[in-house]
Amino acid sequence: MTLPSWVQSEEDKPAPMPLLLVQAFVNTRDVDKSTDLLLHLDTATAWLRNAGIVGPGTTVSPSDLSMLRDVRESIRALLAYNGGGPAPTVDELAPLEALARGRPAQVTVGPTGEVQLGPCPDGAVADGLLGLLLVVRDAQHDGTWRRLKTCGNPDCRWAFFDRSHSRRGTWCDMATCGNLIKNRNLRARRR
Ligand SMILES: [Zn+2]
Repeated sequence: MTLPSWVQSEEDKPAPMPLLLVQAFVNTRDVDKSTDLLLHLDTATAWLRNAGIVGPGTTVSPSDLSMLRDVRESIRALLAYNGGGPAPTVDELAPLEALARGRPAQVTVGPTGEVQLGPCPDGAVADGLLGLLLVVRDAQHDGTWRRLKTCGNPDCRWAFFDRSHSRRGTWCDMATCGNLIKNRNLRARRR
């Protein structure tokens, strides 16, 4: 399967579209490698436009950058919960709630009647993120949401889509994170 160019090249467990957008958004930060596409205006703007979250006329401001990162980590907390972690805290949910409260959704009706939301060609960054929020809503309705999780390795926290029948997948990659944590636990038990 060829993944869109806005998906991270190391993505082994991609979600179906459009949930893939939410996954790739969370994975703009690689915790393990300490890289973050949303740290600087140029890389953030390029990624957001490439993914279609904002249109070519949208300007990303420094305050948008911190909002984007806050919303991303808010979604990461939801995915950790999907992965069997603790329920998100009030503080963790606050950026998503602020986004949802902050503006009305812009809904458009296409030529054959398909109802869509953003991105507006020259809309604000928050409009594009509202679109992501509706992707989350749809996935919660169709049941795919609970399969989008963060890796159980605290040093990794990569978002992966669990296609396993049991839905009990824990690691972004068994070979790296799964064995790493198992070996670590084994060493801890032996001490
Ligand atoms: Zn991992």
